[in-house]
Amino acid sequence: MKKLLFYLLVLFVSASCSTADKETQIIILSTNDMHAMIDDYAKVAEYVDKVRSENTNVLLLSGGDMFSGNPVVDRYADKGYPMIEIMNKIGYDYGVFGNHEFDYGQEFLAKRIKQANFPLLCANMKVSEQALIKQPQPYAMFNMDGIEICILSTIQVEDSNGKLIPSAHPDRVKNIDFFQPVETALEYKDLRKKCDLFISLNHDGIDEDIILAQKMPELDIIIGGHSHALVKGKTENGVLISQTECHLKYIGKTVITFKNKKITDKKFELVDVSTLHDENAEVKALISKYYEETPLNRVVGVAGSDFTGLENLGGLMTDAITKNLNLDIAFQNSGGIRTKKIEKGDISLLMLYKLDPFDNEVVLFEMTYDEIYSLLKKSYRSGSQYADLKTSGISYVIKVKNDEVADIEILDAKGNLLNKNKKYKVGINSYIASSYKFDHADAGKSLNVTSAEILIEYVKQQKEVYPQPDRTKIEKINDI
Ligand SMILES: [Zn+2]
Repeated sequence: MKKLLFYLLVLFVSASCSTADKETQIIILSTNDMHAMIDDYAKVAEYVDKVRSENTNVLLLSGGDMFSGNPVVDRYADKGYPMIEIMNKIGYDYGVFGNHEFDYGQEFLAKRIKQANFPLLCANMKVSEQALIKQPQPYAMFNMDGIEICILSTIQVEDSNGKLIPSAHPDRVKNIDFFQPVETALEYKDLRKKCDLFISLNHDGIDEDIILAQKMPELDIIIGGHSHALVKGKTENGVLISQTECHLKYIGKTVITFKNKKITDKKFELVDVSTLHDENAEVKALISKYYEETPLNRVVGVAGSDFTGLENLGGLMTDAITKNLNLDIAFQNSGGIRTKKIEKGDISLLMLYKLDPFDNEVVLFEMTYDEIYSLLKKSYRSGSQYADLKTSGISYVIKVKNDEVADIEILDAKGNLLNKNKKYKVGINSYIASSYKFDHADAGKSLNVTSAEILIEYVKQQKEVYPQPDRTKIEKINDI
């Protein structure tokens, strides 16, 4: 018995001696808001492999919004699958739900979650049995080289007619209840006692992250997303916060050093993907395959000369609406014009979907002159140098005095002042219809066709399209 006690003592002393000075490093690589921008993933894959080959403890995390932004992925027959295949290949360990994860609908999302080799976590959503996705785990707890790690995840929410939902189409988050992310995270603060490294991997946005850090010093680091902010390791209340903007422009690298399982150092470093040159051949081939095989490469028309800038491209988009839907006037918001240029030459479906990637339907409003005037007036953004709403069927000049709209001159297609006593058939996309405030007696009627579909039809029918003279202008008058 004495002998056994002696051996146990020796074992205990030697075990505690060996860990006494043990220094451990955990490296966390992170990307957020990739939005299906797969183009640079071959570089990211090579970089991740290199870090993994040089270090033992490497985690790769996604801060959400894997989908929506690249037609090759978004319009793939099995929506979003290319992104999951690539992320699986690179070996992501965990992710959080982003609001754009819901964009394809729950049926597609359920399949993507099943295929992903990395769990998507989220603590502030409660999925009912009627929903097509399963209840996610709120957090993950695991051991890496003797360090107990906890990853807790939350998604942003906003008020939608009295209900809290992420920034997504309400139909796509049906049968799921969402809760305030910071309040939910606080319910899990006791997990601190069970782990050596406590991470919030969230899709809440930087403003919420700062509040979270202030209220929850139990956290060691916050890896965020959603606001597309570049947060290069900001320490708030002792919590290290980071976010890597979007579209795979950067990789976040957080290095946590432990001594005896206690954190002795936390460092964040931003890796600029444009400075990386080596590419992983396998991932590169996979990306090329998706681009080569997409049916979106089909040519549908020709640009007779370069379409450059918002005015040219917005003119093309709105001409499609007035001409093909037989309307008097159309408007397109500048924020929805997503490419800068279409060069002279072939126009493919891919180019048109890149220009107009959102599935916004065209909504018809019967509008008076005064109502059109009110829409244009309210579209003016303080200090703006260019008119927000690109148009077809009219041209207009917003006259600004001391940063206020003083007058708007609206001309019809023939160059005459727009008739103040007539009603006009105006086509706008559903985004403008729901998020711009303007006077309209008509509630608006969806024409059950998206603005992208109309644009494609128009280019097909025209065969060759040309940029038109500018139709919108902001003029500063007599600034004091
Ligand atoms: Zn995003």
